[in-house]
Amino acid sequence: MTEFARVATKPVILWFRRDLRLHDNPALNHAAETGRPILPVYILDEHGERPMGAASRWWLDKSLRALDAALQERGSRLILRKGNAPTQLQALIAETGADVVFMNRLFEPETFEYDAEIAHTLKADGVECRGFNGALLCRPGEVLNGSGQPYKVFTPFLRALLATAEAPAHTTGPRQIQTPKTVQSHDLDSWKLHPRRPDWSKGFDWTPGEDGASQALSRFIPSGLKTYAKDRDFPDRQGANSRLSPHLHWGEISPWRAIDRARQAAKDGKVSSAESDKFIAEIGWREFSAHLLHHFPYIAERAFRPEYDAMPWRKDDASLKAWRQGRTGYPLVDAGMRQLWTTGWMHNRVRMVVASFLIKHLLIDWREGEAWFWDTLVDADRASNVQNWQWVAGSGADASPFFRIFNPITQGEKFDPDGGYVRRWVPELRHLPDRWLQSPWTAPAEVLRDAGIVLGRDYPKPIVEHEKGRARALAALKTVSGRG
Ligand code: FAD
Repeated sequence: MTEFARVATKPVILWFRRDLRLHDNPALNHAAETGRPILPVYILDEHGERPMGAASRWWLDKSLRALDAALQERGSRLILRKGNAPTQLQALIAETGADVVFMNRLFEPETFEYDAEIAHTLKADGVECRGFNGALLCRPGEVLNGSGQPYKVFTPFLRALLATAEAPAHTTGPRQIQTPKTVQSHDLDSWKLHPRRPDWSKGFDWTPGEDGASQALSRFIPSGLKTYAKDRDFPDRQGANSRLSPHLHWGEISPWRAIDRARQAAKDGKVSSAESDKFIAEIGWREFSAHLLHHFPYIAERAFRPEYDAMPWRKDDASLKAWRQGRTGYPLVDAGMRQLWTTGWMHNRVRMVVASFLIKHLLIDWREGEAWFWDTLVDADRASNVQNWQWVAGSGADASPFFRIFNPITQGEKFDPDGGYVRRWVPELRHLPDRWLQSPWTAPAEVLRDAGIVLGRDYPKPIVEHEKGRARALAALKTVSGRG
């Protein structure tokens, strides 16, 4: 073999992270353009990031299997490695002679820095890292205000984002991917990502992977999108939301794909542009969260508005446990927390209510709630989680003011008027008439008896009275200087 031929057939590494797809994958497309064999690799390395939560591990397990199957259909396979990413990449490079690594960048500050260090290390070994953006509509830094600063308010951010972001052409990736056969891979089962003893994931009704993502979008566009703006707040309306969040988090679908399909549906007259715009704006919130965390890394741990770190949070393990277990005595809150535990997901409206209840009625630090969501959500996303918790806590950029305290009873009456959501997740209340469903303690004794409920035995009494919790929260706010 001539030197040229030997060099020309050196493989390139395609390093998968949270871009577990073959369609619309810029790193894959650029790797394929080299015409060289491709080594698709996933490295389980929790060094650079906060350790994954349990629900995320569950998802990753299935998504990697789906990605491997998709690669096999194209004549390739997924190589799995575990441990420190730069060390694993160096080992792979030594084994195969690869001299380029293609990857889609992640923009969480810790990961972003870690990647830069990796690129630096590999460069010293003569290996080039080429990074692309497959996760966001725009890279953080591409959407800045007139003074060259990051936006702190959502509406002007969204306007600038949509004016700046350019939709890339839809791509399906190469039909055939040539991968060297001899490279060793770990056994995914040995990573034990799927929970055992107990397997608490039996209620998880998801199809992780690129096909699952594309099916979720195809289900939503012709049905839920039509009434999205109106119905998205009602947790019992099946199909009213896309349920794309875990797929977007894991990069099983490009956010552009979701936007293109929504725009196309509006263009074809199948939905009004108001519905399509509303859906796109929600994807804009995902983007806003990612850009904020990138520019203000401290918000992962501390309040965006520092005065809120002086909030006199209470330490109350019993109430925190009741909240986590869905036993607060407030049916909408309990329904949400049980939906989360059972399915790994919770409806957005209910997320706002349960978060407000923890932060305001219980006066427990938002970081406790954020950590619980991190562990239990299949869509747990550092940026979206932190941004939304701080939005509810009043401490975030463009947040809802702290003094706006969701009333969990009236929220239930408004957004679960027929009680379908509460009855589904809190079945012990299913025989209670609608009138008392969101506040069982107000029901007359005979109504409770007829519904087969003894409060404090079959279903808890409220762990805090609404008015008392509210008054305590407002008093706490007064101790925070510069609030409002
Ligand atoms: P749809 O209504 O169909 O919206 C489409 C997409 O837009 C979503 O998939 C999501 O990517 C994005 N989106 C919608 N609302 C928001 C929002 N408020 N913020 C950011 N992106 C949004 N979302 C996460 O993806 N990960 C999280 O860890 C997360 N934590 C949250 C914590 C709290 C306290 C709250 C109030 C919200 C949180 N959200 C989080 C946002 C939101 O609840 C979910 O994105 C949404 O419920 C996902 O359902 P869907 O895909 O059906 O959304």
